[in-house]
Amino acid sequence: MNYKEHITIVENWPKEGVQFKDITPLMANGEVFKAAVDDIATFAKEKEIDLIVGPEARGFIIGCPVAYKLEVGFIPVRKEGKLPREVVKVDYGLEYGENVLTVHKDAVKKGQRVLITDDLLATGGTIEATIKLVEQLGGIVVGCAFLIELGYLNGMSKLKEYDVLTLMKYE
Ligand code: 5GP
Repeated sequence: MNYKEHITIVENWPKEGVQFKDITPLMANGEVFKAAVDDIATFAKEKEIDLIVGPEARGFIIGCPVAYKLEVGFIPVRKEGKLPREVVKVDYGLEYGENVLTVHKDAVKKGQRVLITDDLLATGGTIEATIKLVEQLGGIVVGCAFLIELGYLNGMSKLKEYDVLTLMKYE
């Protein structure tokens, strides 16, 4: 599947100098979206995962259909103030802006095997923060899966100890 054909590059959005990779055309094509979900599910299947964890908002779009297919639960990681019960939190730096991510304190049990999903790996700040949340709760991160890797932002250097799948890479 040539996934890149279904990504639209938007110049200077959300700010000057950023080449935003818009995944919505890929999501809008049922055949291509299914192929992407299936590829991630195949990667995850042999890892015997208990849960998928994904950061808002596009981590949900990728993670939820994979969770449904593998019949495992999905845990949302959200920005501060969005989750209704007791949370653990971590500060992280984004490609554009600073933020805090949170997850419910009882969302991951000690020893559970977790796949983390997001749409895109840029600097790696978001995935690093999500990994920290899962590991803080005693979960074992057995893999990370993305549609897109931006090679020039070197996020992969933060993931040396993890098994990572990316379906497309931009250099
Ligand atoms: P990082 O934390 O790795 O620097 O940035 C990755 C996060 O920012 C992901 O959650 C992703 O959704 C968002 N992001 C950054 N740049 C882009 C982009 O060009 N396209 C899309 N779809 N998301 C982006």
